[in-house]
Amino acid sequence: MEPTILHTSSKAGWIEVICGSMFSGKTEELIRRMRRARIAKQRVEIFKPAIDTRFDEDAVVSHDESVIPSTPVSSPSQILLLTSDATVIGIDEGQFFDETLVEVCTQLARDGRRVIVAGLDQDYLARPFEPMPQLMAVAEYVTKLHAICVVCGAPANHSQRLTPADSRLLLGATESYEPRCRRCFKMHPEMDVPHEAVANERTQTPDSGM
Ligand code: ZN
Repeated sequence: MEPTILHTSSKAGWIEVICGSMFSGKTEELIRRMRRARIAKQRVEIFKPAIDTRFDEDAVVSHDESVIPSTPVSSPSQILLLTSDATVIGIDEGQFFDETLVEVCTQLARDGRRVIVAGLDQDYLARPFEPMPQLMAVAEYVTKLHAICVVCGAPANHSQRLTPADSRLLLGATESYEPRCRRCFKMHPEMDVPHEAVANERTQTPDSGM
């Protein structure tokens, strides 16, 4: 799963992107890489957007509750100020940062750091979720993870929203989304019902944002 790291010079930094749908294990994979680095006595720092306060104010928490301490930041430029002498920089929920994340990661890599960014590659309408596509383009290594489609069991590439909303930033993963494959994904949730739907689902208000 993890890319074969060809870099041997401590001077050379690089960027790794871990992307995929919700429930694909992105944060778990980020934590795994960070833990391995920490075991090797490398100085690690993890950052996440301050907006992601689903579970805990100062830890990266994945859905299986693997926890590693992290620092919430409100903008990518803060990461530059807070990295100090860390050689491995982890960034979770990269899709919630603005496009300046790309330049910040590039700068860190140029500075000799290993930068690992986890994030959603698509939003709930299956559109590329900036700045992850741009980051994938400049990264040395891209790992795309898949969840399992809850409808048919195929590898899931999409995050199906189950409740009407017009914001990309709807949090609270477990109740609001489920992983689906391309065939089972519905662009307009009001035309569909959740996998374990009940009959009164059709009374929902259509999502005016689409
Ligand atoms: Zn499916």
